[in-house]
Amino acid sequence: MVKDCPKCRLVNPPSAQRCDCGYDFVEKQVMESYLTEKDQAQLKENEQAKDSPWAFLRLISRFFRWFG
Ligand SMILES: [Zn+2]
Repeated sequence: MVKDCPKCRLVNPPSAQRCDCGYDFVEKQVMESYLTEKDQAQLKENEQAKDSPWAFLRLISRFFRWFG
């Protein structure tokens, strides 16, 4: 049985004891996340990169290279 996190709805493997968000399936309460600060910073960076206008501009310029 996979474990649905009641906090963030992330589906965790049956062996998971704690969700990425910090919810502990054993304690049934939110604990400190296992993710290190570095991991979280990396995640945040990825999020920002996705929303960056530069990413969109790169996509546009690639489009014009194909059809221009
Ligand atoms: Zn979670």
